Amino acid sequence: VAKRHPGSNIVRAQASFEQGSSDMLTLEQALRAGIRERHVYLCYQPKVDAASQRLIGFEALARWHRPGIGMVNPQVFIAAAETTGLIAELGTLLLRSACQQQARWLAAGKACVPIAVNVSPLQLLNPQFPRLVLDMLQEFQLAPGLLTLEITESAAVENLDHTCAQLRELRSGGIRIAIDDFGTGFSSLSMLRNLPLDTVKIDKALIDPLPGREGTAIVEAICKLATVLGLAVVAEGVETQEQAAAARQAGCDELQGYCFGKPMNPDDAVQLLG
Ligand code: C2E
Ligand code: MG
Ligand code: MG
Ligand code: MG
Repeated sequence: VAKRHPGSNIVRAQASFEQGSSDMLTLEQALRAGIRERHVYLCYQPKVDAASQRLIGFEALARWHRPGIGMVNPQVFIAAAETTGLIAELGTLLLRSACQQQARWLAAGKACVPIAVNVSPLQLLNPQFPRLVLDMLQEFQLAPGLLTLEITESAAVENLDHTCAQLRELRSGGIRIAIDDFGTGFSSLSMLRNLPLDTVKIDKALIDPLPGREGTAIVEAICKLATVLGLAVVAEGVETQEQAAAARQAGCDELQGYCFGKPMNPDDAVQLLG
């Protein structure tokens, strides 16, 4: 069994990803094999209610263990999957995996909480995507309220009308939509009003400065706006109880971060379910 040095492998994978198209081809082939051999899988990170700190959901996060190499950074292999077009297949597989997990927990009589699945902008472009998701819920006999989709802002900005139509179709089927990494990149506050959303996830970069005065003021402002627009707010990347208290005070409804649990395998995640 190969030794695992996650940090250095991430650097190596990143470097090889940037080296050029022949390495990209290698990475693509490796990812294809990884998908086929089930070395790509989901971990689940808890989300808690800000007031009670009780479990109210999970975010599903993709992991790829490359035999002989180690864990590959999700940002690297998701980007590679997007570049090579593999993302459609991978995205569907991960969505199916989350639904299957949810169905298993339900069948085992566990107190189920919604699972949030990350969706690539490229998946959202596909006109069949809403149908695909709704069909999958039916296949696993899941209530749509048990699934949230997380989309990043860049996805929405590029093709606003199409994105809105797609999100409306998903929401009319009962699926909740969260905007991910809010406050980074080309954030625009008007996006919160223009997109059919349920939840705003405030990026870790805006949570890190808590409980500092200026940082708190920014989070408060986002929470106030979200409240007016009828959106729930999740603070991402909460690492300390001090930050948790400040985020709650600022108006965040839900908290997620290492303070409450790292992404974990389903066997560990199920221990958190009643
Ligand atoms: P994201 O969706 O914003 O996920 C949150 C990231 O923050 C995750 O990184 C998570 O492990 C990390 N995180 C959570 N709490 C903390 C904390 O307290 N401290 C720190 N330092 N980090 C924390 P991860 O798993 O490496 O994923 C990175 C990104 O890759 C995700 O950001 C998402 O954009 C993308 N990604 C991951 N899985 C998928 C997937 O299944 N599909 C797609 N399309 N993208 C995915
Ligand atoms: Mg996310
Ligand atoms: Mg995020
Ligand atoms: Mg992120």
